[in-house]
Amino acid sequence: MLDYSTTRSGELARHARNLTPGGVHSNVRLTGPQVFLSHAKGSRLVDVDGNEYIDYLLGQGPNFLGHAPDAVLDAVDAACRRGMVYGAQHQLEIEAAERMLSAIRWADRVRFAMTGTEAVQAALRAARSYTGRCLFVRFAGHYHGWVDNVLAGVGADGSAVPVSGGQMASHLDDSIMVPWNDLDAVEEVLATRSAEIAAVIMEPVMLNAGAIEPGPGYLEGVRAECDRHGVVLIFDEVIGGFRVALGGAAERYGVTPDLATYGKAMAGGWPVAAFAGRSEILDPLGTAMVNHSGTFNASVMACAATAATLRVLVEDPPYGRLGAIGGRLQDGLRRLASDHGLEMNVQGPPMAFHVGFGEGPVRSLADLQRLDLDRYAVFSRVLVEHGVWVTGPGIWYVSTAHTDADVDETLDRVGRAMSAFTAG
Ligand code: PLP
Repeated sequence: MLDYSTTRSGELARHARNLTPGGVHSNVRLTGPQVFLSHAKGSRLVDVDGNEYIDYLLGQGPNFLGHAPDAVLDAVDAACRRGMVYGAQHQLEIEAAERMLSAIRWADRVRFAMTGTEAVQAALRAARSYTGRCLFVRFAGHYHGWVDNVLAGVGADGSAVPVSGGQMASHLDDSIMVPWNDLDAVEEVLATRSAEIAAVIMEPVMLNAGAIEPGPGYLEGVRAECDRHGVVLIFDEVIGGFRVALGGAAERYGVTPDLATYGKAMAGGWPVAAFAGRSEILDPLGTAMVNHSGTFNASVMACAATAATLRVLVEDPPYGRLGAIGGRLQDGLRRLASDHGLEMNVQGPPMAFHVGFGEGPVRSLADLQRLDLDRYAVFSRVLVEHGVWVTGPGIWYVSTAHTDADVDETLDRVGRAMSAFTAG
C-alpha cells in the first residue's frame, strides 16, 4: 500500500487534522483516500502530488457532466456577475423550475433547497401536513440525509437504530423501517398502521448501498398500497434523479410518486437540491401554511447551474451513450475479475452501479451484507493507487464525460490493480 506519510497529501492531511475534526468536512470522507486533490476536468482528477485518476466517484454523484463542465461554468459565471443572492425572486428561477418540471414530467410544482437532507425534510413535512398523519415508512439500507429522524442503522430486529453520538433516538420513532424489495412487508405495515402513516419514502433504486433495483412489480405494488391507504409516496432521487434517466426513476420504471427529492446530478456539480410533486401537496407551502425556508435557496448560481445542466441533458441526451459506456465498464470488470480468479458481483444501472466481492445478485441489505465488504474496501485503495478513483462502499458513477477510451484505460488500470491485489 502507498505510504501517504511521505507525500504532499499526507502532509496536508496531518495539517488538516489540527484544523478540522478528522481533517474532513463530511463524515462520509473519513474512510476515503487520504489524498488532497488539486484540480479536475472531465473524467479526470489530479492530486497535489501530481497523480492523475480516472474518477468514478464524481464527488459522490454531482459531477454527472464530468468535472468543471464549460456549459455550467459559463452560465454560473455570466449569471453571478449580476448578483448572487437577492432574497427575492429573479428570472433564472423560472427557467430552472420550468426545465426541472419539463424533465420530471409528472410533477406540477418544484421548490429549490440547498441539500438533499433538507429536501427530504421538506417533502416529509409537506406529506404530514397533507395527510394530517405523523409517521413515515422507510427502507433498510436507504439513506435520506444526516439528521436525527432519518440517519439510521438497522437493529437486530430490523428496526431503525441511531448511528451517531448525540443523535436523538426518539426521533427514529417517527418512522417504521421495513426491508427493501419486500412488498409483503409494506402491505403489512400499511394494513395495520395506515391511520398514522403520512408517507412511504424510498430510494427507488437503492443507490446508496448495493445499487439494488426494484424487483419486478415492486414499485407498482408500493404505489398501489399507498393509493389504497391514502399515503404519500416519496421517491428520494437525490442520487438517481436526472442520472438513471432524464425523468429519473419514474421514467426508468414507469411508476410515478407523489413527491420526489433531487440533488447531485441536477446542477453539474453546483450545490443545490430540490423537491417536486403534486400541486395539492406542495401548494400549502405557497400559502405559508407549511414552512420551507432558506437564505440561499434558488441562488442565482444554483438556478444558472440547474438550467444549464438540464439544457445540456435535453439538447444532447446522454443516456444511450452512458448506458453503453457504463455497460462496457461493467462487463470489463466482470471479465477481469474472472481472469484473476476473483468472485465479483457487478450490478445496477450502468450509470451508477455497485461492485463487490462475493456472490450476487444482491437484492436486499441482507444480501449486501453477505458480500465481503471489507475486502472490497481494501481493493478500492489498490484501485486508487492504480489511478482509478473509487471509494470503499463500491458505488461507481459514470459521467457524460467518460469515453470509450476512458473505459479502456480504466480496465487496463483495474487489471494491473487486480494483479497487485491477488499477488499481495
Ligand atoms: N438522499 C439520498 C438518496 C442521498 O444519497 C443523499 C446523499 O448522499 C441525501 C439524501 C442527502 O443529500 P445531501 O448530502 O445533499 O444532504
